[in-house]
Amino acid sequence: MAHACPRCGGELDRAIGSTFSHCPYCGAAVVRAGDAILERYLVPRRLTPEAARRALDRWMVGNEPSRWLAGSAQIEAPALTWLPVWYARTGDAHNTQAHQRRADAALVPEVKRRLVPPAGMRRLDGNSAPDEALPEPTITWTTFATDALADRTVVERSLVHVPFYRFQYRYRGRRYTAAVDAATGEVRPGRYPKRPGMPFVLLSVGTIATFAIADLWYGGAWFWDASRPHIVPIIYPIGWLAIILIARLFTAVF
Ligand SMILES: [Zn+2]
Repeated sequence: MAHACPRCGGELDRAIGSTFSHCPYCGAAVVRAGDAILERYLVPRRLTPEAARRALDRWMVGNEPSRWLAGSAQIEAPALTWLPVWYARTGDAHNTQAHQRRADAALVPEVKRRLVPPAGMRRLDGNSAPDEALPEPTITWTTFATDALADRTVVERSLVHVPFYRFQYRYRGRRYTAAVDAATGEVRPGRYPKRPGMPFVLLSVGTIATFAIADLWYGGAWFWDASRPHIVPIIYPIGWLAIILIARLFTAVF
């Protein structure tokens, strides 16, 4: 069965053997998708690993639920991973709709939606391929087409390679992951540790109780026994220490 190159129309029947290959006439990077041959696109990587790390740091500092992570998480150097995404447009000349689905179930699990960033993609050929190996699809085009494209007129179909930096970090002995979009810098945090709620509650209760005891003691001493107020200079600093510990948990400023 003869296949035509989706870019130049050249006949590919003998050239296409494995999943990924190139058109021998125009160099287009193509992928076998069931009975069809699709062109492959790539979202250019714009961030260096250092820039991705700065994006993750900003997220940890600026994002309310994760603010306390800044400075206390041990973050490892990121790994660049190219997520393959099936991409299609359906509709007609006036109105088209984009559809996308991850072509691998396991890679970059932090990314659930908006797989292809609005950063522009470019055609892939032998010269523009990145140095890193591009993972091949493990979820078939047919699965995608059956679910998302049934009964629609498909006007464009392709495989897009999207770059993400994956970080591993450690917090209190447990490992967590986060992904940073290598084209836009958007942080996809995945599952991250819960804010330490129990110490906060304990410290609050402890602080309130400490001040209440100090007040009662001081008031009681003032009323009934003038020899006891010396305990106040000891109990009040304990209360202040508790408040500083609470602030430290939440701001990591001290
Ligand atoms: Zn071609």
